[in-house]
Amino acid sequence: DTLINQIAAGEVVERPASVVKELVENALDAGARRVDIDLEEGGVRLIRIRDDGGGIAAEELPLAVSRHATSKIASLDDLEAVATLGFRGEALPSIASVSRFQLASRRPGDEHGAALQVDGGRVGEIVPKAHAPGTTVEVRDLFFNVPARRKFLRAERTELGHIEEWLRSLALARPDVELRVSHNGKPSRRYKAGDIDAAARLAETLGEDFARSALRIDHSGAGLRLHGWIAQPHYSRASADQQYLYVNGRSVRDRSVAHAVKLAYQDVLFHGRQPAYVLFLELDPVRVDVNVHPAKHEVRFRDARLIHDFVFRTLQEALAHTRA
Ligand code: ADP
Ligand code: MG
Repeated sequence: DTLINQIAAGEVVERPASVVKELVENALDAGARRVDIDLEEGGVRLIRIRDDGGGIAAEELPLAVSRHATSKIASLDDLEAVATLGFRGEALPSIASVSRFQLASRRPGDEHGAALQVDGGRVGEIVPKAHAPGTTVEVRDLFFNVPARRKFLRAERTELGHIEEWLRSLALARPDVELRVSHNGKPSRRYKAGDIDAAARLAETLGEDFARSALRIDHSGAGLRLHGWIAQPHYSRASADQQYLYVNGRSVRDRSVAHAVKLAYQDVLFHGRQPAYVLFLELDPVRVDVNVHPAKHEVRFRDARLIHDFVFRTLQEALAHTRA
């Protein structure tokens, strides 16, 4: 089974940032209000994610690291309308097959916590461990047993950059969750939650300039809702890495929606400029397939044409007011 998990890891775990993504998404699925992310050497040496979510019962720890064991969907019908970020049940076994891995947890109602160690896919025994309510996952020495993959990891700063970029996209979508990051023992990033609202997170993540120049979008129709911000055409600092799209809260890349945004800007944007945007598209989950790729970066819409036109019209309308 270790070999199968390692093969799956090839699709799910590209680099430290993909590990952070999978583990933080698990924390959010568990209802965490605060997630602590400790990294060493760009995540290659250590990724430790601690959450204050619902936790895992001691006797369920082995299940959590076994293949296709997900607590999130019970049948294929549930997959039609999946509301959690995870559902494939392969992240933990994949990550645990290519690292020195530890899962420690305690449910709020339990008296004691417990931990399970997995080394390169070899699952150890459940041991008692002191733990606050919630879960900690520790991933050490990523790809230590897969030299061919380890060779493809980049410099510490590059890997850290990928992690921070993904966290920025998460921070934009979840102003209700506090995120704290440390790197090599020093605090490096903190997104506070609480009385902060989405607009404040926008300034915090993409800068005051973007926040000041952004147009607020919120439009519904045909069972679709598009909300968020687009930069006004005069905003000059826009770049391709200020393009954030979320479908039902999930950060995705979608060429059709990206095209619709560009098209809406066509008349107002100077040649060569990139649009900058943070857009959330909400629709009935049955109208979108999120199970297109193991890493879930892409989705497939049932009615892609309709969605393209909805996004185009909404933004064209909003931008028309900027042309005075
Ligand atoms: P998936 O997220 O697709 O269900 P994973 O391999 O990521 O699969 O996780 C396996 C299972 O382990 C989850 O379904 C969940 O029950 C449990 N789990 C993982 N991480 C956490 C966490 N941080 N808190 C509570 N439960 C967790
Ligand atoms: Mg998961």
